[in-house]
Amino acid sequence: MGKILLFYKYVDVQDPEAVAAWQRSLCTELGLSGRIILATEGINGTLGGSDEATDEYIKQMNVHQLFKNIDFKTAPGDERFFPRLRVMIKKEIVIMGIDPTTLKASDSAPYVTPEEAHEIIKNGSKDLVILDTRNEYEIEIGTFENSISPKTRYFREFPAYIDNNLETFADKEVLMFCTGGVRCERASAYLKNKGVAKKVMHIQGGIHRYVEQFPDGFFKGSNYVFDARVSQKVNDVVLGSCSQCSTPSDYYVNCKNAECNNQFLSCETCKNQLQESCSKECSELVDTQKVVIRTKPSRIDPPSPSTFADAPVLWRDCATLEKKSD
Ligand SMILES: [Zn+2]
Ligand SMILES: [Zn+2]
Repeated sequence: MGKILLFYKYVDVQDPEAVAAWQRSLCTELGLSGRIILATEGINGTLGGSDEATDEYIKQMNVHQLFKNIDFKTAPGDERFFPRLRVMIKKEIVIMGIDPTTLKASDSAPYVTPEEAHEIIKNGSKDLVILDTRNEYEIEIGTFENSISPKTRYFREFPAYIDNNLETFADKEVLMFCTGGVRCERASAYLKNKGVAKKVMHIQGGIHRYVEQFPDGFFKGSNYVFDARVSQKVNDVVLGSCSQCSTPSDYYVNCKNAECNNQFLSCETCKNQLQESCSKECSELVDTQKVVIRTKPSRIDPPSPSTFADAPVLWRDCATLEKKSD
């Protein structure tokens, strides 16, 4: 079995083009797939490959002067969990829509470790506000107990959410979190800079590191991820519900009508009844072959040793994954 790597580092990158060229050749040589975003503010990536390839990638990063000492999070998987390799240069490594020279990750609020976060939530001060910085479709299937959702579709809507809800954070101790920590670096700086909260903190390593230590802690449900697993079950709590019949479900499906490509929660019965389409309309379009029909599976279920070897090749393309990049 191989690995999926999740990583980021905010660091001054003078020449993103040169770094991108190096990343492209390194990943190609190692047979890695996935997505790397480079900007002058740093690097944000998720890659899949064999154990040997991902170990070698980490080794090469650790001897690079800019990218040493990255906290690489890992999960079981490999290169089949991404449709291909994409190395991109953008203005920000996670799109918040604010120039990185105006809002810097170096201004972020202090970290709390997963243990500290666990204690803070357990003690439950009346001034505590737990803020999920992720998007609504992620929060729908799993989040921290008593956390609040900004109800965003895209992360770039987050600053406006803060601006419009300052009273929620006035004189509060705000504990922020996201999937792996990258969004909270600048999001916590943004809230801190507003000067309304008594204290702002964010969980180091995000949900990923917290649930490693506290699988039965305060995070309930599944962790949405940006590879073919789609979600990673943390505990048996199911927060989401089928978009058709409202039966509890945290299982995302991509519409069989490839031109619709809607991602929706579905129970097993509705999934079969509508043939993996998001609606009766899409199901009919698929039946009458009036649209492009998805032929490959839209997700790879979290690998277990017995099924992993037969994991199918993924159809979801990078455009879908990038739209939602963490
Ligand atoms: Zn259903
Ligand atoms: Zn559809």
